[in-house]
Amino acid sequence: MHWADVAAEQLMKKGEKHVLATAITPSGPIHVGNLREVITTEAVYRALKDRGAKAELIFIADTFDPLRKVYPFLPEKYEKYVGKPLAEIPCPCGEHENYAEHFLQPFIHVMDELGIKPKIYRAYEIYKEGRYNEAIKIALDNADKIKAIIEKISGRDLPEKWMPFNVKCEKCGKLKGEIYEYDYPFAKYRCSCGYEGSVDLRKGGIGKFPWRIDWPARWKIFGVTFEAFGKDHAASGSSWDTGKEIAKQVFKYEPPMPLVYEFIHLKGKGAMHGSTGVAIAASEAIKILPSEVLRFLFMKYEPNRHIEFDTGFSLLDLIDEYDRYERIYFGMEEKIAGMKDEKRVYELSQPYGIVSKSPIKISYRHLAIVAQIAKDFDEAIEIIKRKIELKDYDETRLKERYEKIIYWLKNYAPEEIKFEVKEELPELKLKNDEKKFLIELEKNFDGIEWDAEKIHATIHESAKKSQISAKKAFQLIYMLFIGKDRGPRAGYFLQSLGKDFVMKRIREAYQS
Ligand SMILES: [Zn+2]
Ligand SMILES: [Zn+2]
Repeated sequence: MHWADVAAEQLMKKGEKHVLATAITPSGPIHVGNLREVITTEAVYRALKDRGAKAELIFIADTFDPLRKVYPFLPEKYEKYVGKPLAEIPCPCGEHENYAEHFLQPFIHVMDELGIKPKIYRAYEIYKEGRYNEAIKIALDNADKIKAIIEKISGRDLPEKWMPFNVKCEKCGKLKGEIYEYDYPFAKYRCSCGYEGSVDLRKGGIGKFPWRIDWPARWKIFGVTFEAFGKDHAASGSSWDTGKEIAKQVFKYEPPMPLVYEFIHLKGKGAMHGSTGVAIAASEAIKILPSEVLRFLFMKYEPNRHIEFDTGFSLLDLIDEYDRYERIYFGMEEKIAGMKDEKRVYELSQPYGIVSKSPIKISYRHLAIVAQIAKDFDEAIEIIKRKIELKDYDETRLKERYEKIIYWLKNYAPEEIKFEVKEELPELKLKNDEKKFLIELEKNFDGIEWDAEKIHATIHESAKKSQISAKKAFQLIYMLFIGKDRGPRAGYFLQSLGKDFVMKRIREAYQS
């Protein structure tokens, strides 16, 4: 069974009504690693719905979290905002309502592209609306108990008068007010800026819980029964360990069923992390990968397997692999030994339902060549038609792939794959044997059907006949068309250029 179905079955044993929560702090570009949390949870949500359960998917944006530091992508002037809630800091580009929205909006767009439609909550609003108020009272009444749990489980030492709540200082606006006197509904606090004040805890948004208390409080507030989280939260003594106990002992709430997922690694650079800059924003990933392929990446692996994300050549392999799953799903290809849950993986990879028949596939590998030859999408279609019959093709889908590969070529593709077809014959000084080869090649090309494999074979034969090495023959061909001595697979490349263009260029070359 697929891992999402396994999790759903376990949940069904506990009850038929479920709330699946995912949460992200929008303190920087939300990256592909964060995406795993959302996609993993949504897959379990789908599996529950497939079983007829009543399930709700929620996404909590931690917009009330303070800015922790001036990240490398921020201007110096953000120093003064460190410690303030993300929702009260100006947006870096000036076009969003605030700092949190600046990073949140592109991610919401990505979720939409991926067919993920959770109910979205913003922590800043939830606090303000007073939805945390009851939990705040419970936590402060049980401050000693919470302190003991955290100290025992995490091994941390907390200050003697520690209280599980940070007041937003009325003077500096930072979440740094420490409560030193508590007499419900009032609390007196002292801020690191020197200000001392008093707050009415019945008013929403006057402060927030530290993460270790915020998490279990929110389980109770939303009735969360399932939550997936990264292994950093799951280590021994971590927020999950303390959260479980705080939920049970303080909030009297049964903790949700957990699913721990592994990190996403950026090839050659290590685990993705917003704060280290080793990350690809989810909004970038969706510009280079079709939505279904991005989902596929996460559906294919068990959550406890780490994933290598590569924006280079492996991207092409990933898409080829997805296409193979699609062919297998539609019975056009036999499954490969060792392949697991291939049909379910395919189903769960679809952002918006399953198409009724296998779409015509143009592999990224071919499209990468075509996109560099064609001036626009229409011309790309013409070129593709030279190789593949495009009867009732899905234009939207093809166009999506075309646009994404253009973006990839421009921003991520390795240099080796890039080329530019020369409009004019590049200047060359051909030796006699090279001219002989080109004359032979033109003659042989003349008689063949314009097909990639035949073109490839004809180059070899012509080289052999004119007694030049195959290596030299291919180099010469690349020089003629792209002015470099290497290039894409010659057969498909020449086929895509069209026979007339190729023949004319060869003639020009040996006549020059
Ligand atoms: Zn902005
Ligand atoms: Zn202050």
